[in-house]
Amino acid sequence: MTWKITTNYLDKNELMKEESIYMLGNGYLGVRGNFEEGYGELSSSIRGTYINAFHEEIDINYGEKLFAFPETQQKLVNVIDSQEIEIYLGIERERFSLAEGETLSHSRALHMDRGVSERTIHWRSPLGKEILVTFQRLVSFVHKELFVQNVKIEPVNFYGKVEIISKVNGDVSNFVDKKDPRVASSHAKILSTIESKVIGEYLVVVNETKASQLKVCCVSDFEVSSSHLKEVEVFSKHVEANITSDLETTIEITKWNVFTDTLRHGEQIINSGCEKLDSVRKYSFLELAEEQKNYLMNFWECGDIQIDGDNRLQEGIRFNVYQLLQSIGRDNYSNIAAKGLSGEGYEGHYFWDTEIYIFPVFLMTYPELAKQLLLYRYSILENAKNRAKEMGHKQGALYPWRTISGTECSAFFPAGTAQYHISADIAYSYIQYYLVTEDIEFLAKYGAEVLIETARLWVDMGHYHEGLFKIDAVTGPDEYTCIVNNNYYTNVLAKHNMNWAVKVCHLLHENNPELFNELSKKLRITEEEMSEWLRASENMYLPYDETLDINMQDDTFLQKDVWDFEGTPKENYPLLLHYHPLTLYRYQVCKQPDTVLAHFLLEDEQEERVIKNSYNYYEKLTTHDSSLSSCIFSIMASKVGYKEKANYYFMETARLDLDNSHKNTKDGLHMANMGGTWMAIIYGFAGMRIKESGLSFSPSLPEGWKQYVFKIKYLGRLIEIMINQSEIILTLLSGEPFVIKIYNKETMLSDRIVRNLEV
Ligand code: BGC
Repeated sequence: MTWKITTNYLDKNELMKEESIYMLGNGYLGVRGNFEEGYGELSSSIRGTYINAFHEEIDINYGEKLFAFPETQQKLVNVIDSQEIEIYLGIERERFSLAEGETLSHSRALHMDRGVSERTIHWRSPLGKEILVTFQRLVSFVHKELFVQNVKIEPVNFYGKVEIISKVNGDVSNFVDKKDPRVASSHAKILSTIESKVIGEYLVVVNETKASQLKVCCVSDFEVSSSHLKEVEVFSKHVEANITSDLETTIEITKWNVFTDTLRHGEQIINSGCEKLDSVRKYSFLELAEEQKNYLMNFWECGDIQIDGDNRLQEGIRFNVYQLLQSIGRDNYSNIAAKGLSGEGYEGHYFWDTEIYIFPVFLMTYPELAKQLLLYRYSILENAKNRAKEMGHKQGALYPWRTISGTECSAFFPAGTAQYHISADIAYSYIQYYLVTEDIEFLAKYGAEVLIETARLWVDMGHYHEGLFKIDAVTGPDEYTCIVNNNYYTNVLAKHNMNWAVKVCHLLHENNPELFNELSKKLRITEEEMSEWLRASENMYLPYDETLDINMQDDTFLQKDVWDFEGTPKENYPLLLHYHPLTLYRYQVCKQPDTVLAHFLLEDEQEERVIKNSYNYYEKLTTHDSSLSSCIFSIMASKVGYKEKANYYFMETARLDLDNSHKNTKDGLHMANMGGTWMAIIYGFAGMRIKESGLSFSPSLPEGWKQYVFKIKYLGRLIEIMINQSEIILTLLSGEPFVIKIYNKETMLSDRIVRNLEV
């Protein structure tokens, strides 16, 4: 049951949300769960098909444009609609549509163990013709270009002529919402159709962007079980094929859609599309579904977290992990967008969400995919170096706050470019990767350069004041407090970044002096420079308030008035939609964890006491208006021993999209939160940490759970962790014995360890 998301009713107000929930994707291609037959008058729709990183460059129109404001931004494009299948019944040609006639039953399901979604409808036409229709679809994990649909039409009381029209439509638009800054406010119509034709029996449509000069092609074919004559018609922006059949017993339709684009397939997108379709067209839907199931069996082998005791939570967790797998980019052009491939919110941009919230999931379960995320960041390192120069730095790399192809896309710099911490976040993820894989070659080839260039940025932008290294005019993760001096989060992550830049140089020097020499020649690293990084790191100023015994979020945070929470009506949340940013900046109010997050990422920088006091202080000020918030509070509540709170915050994250608790799931799923759910279990309840000193656990069992089980990969080993009402049981499933820490005590894991839970 918990492998399946289901809806057993038809509520037109829920349809847009369900389009996101029932989306299918494979990291390259994403298709929203729209109805094949369309909605008619039933509801509006965000009808979308996306290719990761396939974007248009769009001019940013500023009222006042100042120096180094980005001139253009990238925007994920809704590419070509191949979902359309129309069904007409009888000589009256009654069109199957849930906006007409009577829907006697409607249910849909997403099978997370099989990677298939389905919709079953019992429908009566206005003239009384009754049929049962089942739509199934999958976006293949094995053939990245393939989206395949299967339709079964069963007669109930109607037997007779059925006409089926399959369309490939290049006339598509993007969604706009002028009232919500998290959704685009302009540029709906982006693509133009430059070719629509038929090759053999294949329907072909090619769309093109104007400025980024990218092309996308869809090649499609369909087949009806009882074979009949097919007629094809070509229009300027779409192509359609029409088959007439007799409904006597069940009719089955299969439609194969292959997408190719010039980023990945070169200029020959039509040829590669046709070739790909030739190669998959011979497989039935069942065979493709079998392949899909095998892929997922492999994935869930390590990716699953089993919770015994709460099915709703179990469903939520699987859904979140499954959606991450559907959205993560698997090539150097792409990453994982804030909404994955499920919608157009945040315009398909990649943020720090990747490194801090999503990367850890793959790092511990599917390191090949985690590595791919790092390679993407490496591929845009030159852009980051250019951006640093543009921003007036003499050296270093400043990663864009939001981007697709590598350049800064943020038009609102106080909560955009000013979030310099993204460069340290990326460095942090390279360090974590090294700690979990000890892949020294990868470090030498990619990681070192990123760590060094980001360290250079900090040295350039910071300065010494009264002997301490300080960093001014930045924004930390909390977007309700902008452009401040000495943001604790930024400073402590920059410290870690610089410290590791030095460490990595030493490590490479020891392990592979030749490689290190090459690298230091290429990057012109000198001993003096390395001591500069070390000096800045060691003297980093980390704001601390003696009276409250907490870390200050920044130099002036504690001087401000506390936001009037009592006087703020419920309907004014999220605050960003009801108050000018300056109003928010003047108060102690946080959109999301900032110092609290830093205390999670780098807990050894502070005493436990300061961490707990800070948690207590900032929790009261945090609105959780960002979906990146609750999961971190859950982890930290676990850490400081607030079991109930850890549960409470966890519940907020686990079903955030399934229950639409942020009320904007229609614009796409909240990927960072999805990673956060996984983190709240593994880092929160199980208390896992990865440090230079090794792997450790400080486990607990949330109330109401009987036990939970998960697996991780660590230094070439596969480990199963089971936590029940009284014990933690670690089993080494493969790999060499090694030393692990449980509640801070070292112990050798050679086969199986059982320890009592501490309360
Ligand atoms: C959050 C950012 C996040 C962005 C994209 C914003 O609401 O404040 O931290 O990166 O959403 O998810």
